[in-house]
Amino acid sequence: MPLAWRAVDLEDALRAGGHRVTTARRVVWEVLSEAHDHVSAAEVAERAHRRDAGINVSSVYRTLALFTELGLARESRLGDEATWEPAHGDAVVHLVCERCGRVLHHPATAVDALRRQLDDDADFVVDTVDVRVTGHCRRCPR
Ligand SMILES: [Zn+2]
Ligand SMILES: [Zn+2]
Repeated sequence: MPLAWRAVDLEDALRAGGHRVTTARRVVWEVLSEAHDHVSAAEVAERAHRRDAGINVSSVYRTLALFTELGLARESRLGDEATWEPAHGDAVVHLVCERCGRVLHHPATAVDALRRQLDDDADFVVDTVDVRVTGHCRRCPR
């Protein structure tokens, strides 16, 4: 996806929430958008730092938290580690390769069915459905 419109999206979303567009926010968004995968805060910080040495780890953490709060980024846990990616809908299964760490996205209507089923539960209100399946990708040797 072209970066240009994503950058515009980011600015609109930040301004709509009353937030300034800063270099750190712009760079972190670029890193997330270009990763095509889930990345940890440490990975985002390393890549952002390579683009702009003035961006430190704590501003990366704050920016990721802000993006998550604004619905721009999605945070999910992969094992013990929190990872981020540009936000996407729930109707997806995360297939996590335990050998190389790659995360594949598999569209699955079953996730929507699960949400609808849970919506009938009177005792709980569903926010995010995060389905994670572990295994190994076919790229990785047995
Ligand atoms: Zn995902
Ligand atoms: Zn793999």
